[in-house]
Amino acid sequence: MNPFAKALSEIKARHSLRELRSYEHEGVFVRGSLGERLLNLASNDYLGLQILWRERIAEFLHHASKEGAYMSASSSRLLSGDFPIFSRLESLIAGLYGRDCLLFNSGYHANVGMMSALGRLGNVLFLIDEYAHASVFDGVSLSRAHFRRFAHNDTHALETLLECYHSKYDMLIIVAEGLYSMDGDFAPIAELVALKNRYDNAYLYLDEAHSIGACGDEGLGLARELGVSESVDFLILTFGKALSSVGACVVCDSEVKEYCINTARSLIYSTALPPLNIAFSAYVFASLAQLAPYRIHLRTLSVELKRELALRCKHTRVLGEAHILSLVVGSNERALELAQHLRVCGIFAPAIRYPSVPKNLARVRICLNAALEPTHTHALLEAIERAEL
Ligand SMILES: *Cc1c(COP(=O)(O)O)cnc(C)c1O
Repeated sequence: MNPFAKALSEIKARHSLRELRSYEHEGVFVRGSLGERLLNLASNDYLGLQILWRERIAEFLHHASKEGAYMSASSSRLLSGDFPIFSRLESLIAGLYGRDCLLFNSGYHANVGMMSALGRLGNVLFLIDEYAHASVFDGVSLSRAHFRRFAHNDTHALETLLECYHSKYDMLIIVAEGLYSMDGDFAPIAELVALKNRYDNAYLYLDEAHSIGACGDEGLGLARELGVSESVDFLILTFGKALSSVGACVVCDSEVKEYCINTARSLIYSTALPPLNIAFSAYVFASLAQLAPYRIHLRTLSVELKRELALRCKHTRVLGEAHILSLVVGSNERALELAQHLRVCGIFAPAIRYPSVPKNLARVRICLNAALEPTHTHALLEAIERAEL
C-alpha cells in the first residue's frame, strides 16, 4: 500500500474521514449535489447578514464599483499593498475599543502570526485552555516557545500553573477564547483577568471569533461587555463569522502592534486582503451597534431551543450557553449516525468527531443564526424526537 492509501485507510477506520461537499445557498437552506434541500445549521454567519442583508450588500457593491473596487491588494501591506482603507478600518476598530488595532488576513493568520511572534520574545510560557482553536496550537509550535495546557475553563488549574511558573519565565501568556465552539460555553473572562492581574509578568490573549458581533449590547464581544477589554492584552477578533466578511485583527497597545508589524510572518509574507473586503468589514463594524435586534432575536431563539432540546434528550447531554449548541452522543460512529438521521429529515447539522473533540465526546453541533425563525427550530425538534436521544 502506498503511504497515502495507508494513511487514508487508517483515517477511515477511525470514522474520521473528512470530505468536501459543495452546496448552493438559498437563504437559511443549502442545496446538496443531489438536489436535497437542507436547513443550514452549520453556518457561522451568526447575525444572518448574508441572508438578511441581501439588499444592503447589493447597495454596498453598487457603491463600491462606482468608486472603483480593488479586487486585490496586489502585495503585502509591507510593500505597496497598504491601501488607505486598511488603516481606516484599524482606526475605526481602535476607536471602538480605545486601543490600537492591527489587521490580519484571517483568524488563522492572526493566531499563527501573533502566537509565533509573541513566543519569540524570549523566555515565554503559554498557558492554553485545552479547547483552544487549532490555529493557536499551530502558532505555538511555530514559536517554539514552551506551553502547558490547562483543563477547559479550570481557573484553579490555571492558578496552580501560574503559581508554579511565574518566577521561571519572563512572560506567562494565558490563552483562552470568549465563546468556545465545541462546548458552546463562555470563558470565565472576569476571573482570567483577575488572575493575570495578580502576576506582573502575566498577559491575557483572548480569541473572540465566536462572540464578536453576536455578543454584547453593541456587538463588540464579551470582554468589552464585561468592561474588561482594556485588560485583555491581545484581543483577537475575526470577521468571517458574525461579521459576514473575511479577515481578523488584534486589538492591543500601540507598542505591541509595532512589534507585530515587524515580526508576525503571516502579516509580512502574505498578500493583504482585497481592499473591497476591507471596505465591507468597515461597513459592518460601523453598523454593529444598530444590529442589536438581530442579537436579541438570536439570543431568544438560542435560549428556547436549548430548553426544548433538554426536555427531549433523555440520555444525551445538551451543551451550549449561547448560539452554539451541541448534542453529545459519544462515539464518532454515533455522531455520524445522528447527523445522517437529521440530514434525511432535511437538516444539516454536522458531526464533530474525535480528534476535533475528546474521544467519546463526539457530537452533533447546531449553530443558530438571526435569520432563523421558530418554524425552523421546530423542524429540528421534531427530527430530534424521532431520533429518541
Ligand atoms: C474560526 C476561528 C478562527 C479562524 O478564523 P478564520 O478567520 O476563519 O481563519 C480562529 N479562532 C477561533 C476560535 C475560531 O473559531
